[in-house]
Amino acid sequence: MTVAVEDTVMAEPRPCTRCSRVSLLWVVGRCADCVAEMGLQDDRAEYEAWKADVQAEYGRK
Ligand SMILES: [Zn+2]
Repeated sequence: MTVAVEDTVMAEPRPCTRCSRVSLLWVVGRCADCVAEMGLQDDRAEYEAWKADVQAEYGRK
C-alpha cells in the first residue's frame, strides 16, 4: 500500500485525538490507523462523524 501525502494528510507528528498515539499520518485529528479502524467497523456512526469533520475542514468549495 502506498501512502500519498496530500492536502488532507499532514506529515507532521501529532497525537491522535482518538487513540492518543503520536502519528505522522493523520486526517482531521485521527491517525491513519484509526481512520482505517473506523472505516472497517460495523458501526458507521464514528466514521460518518469523521467524514463530516473532513468535509467541514476541507470541503469549503
Ligand atoms: Zn488513532
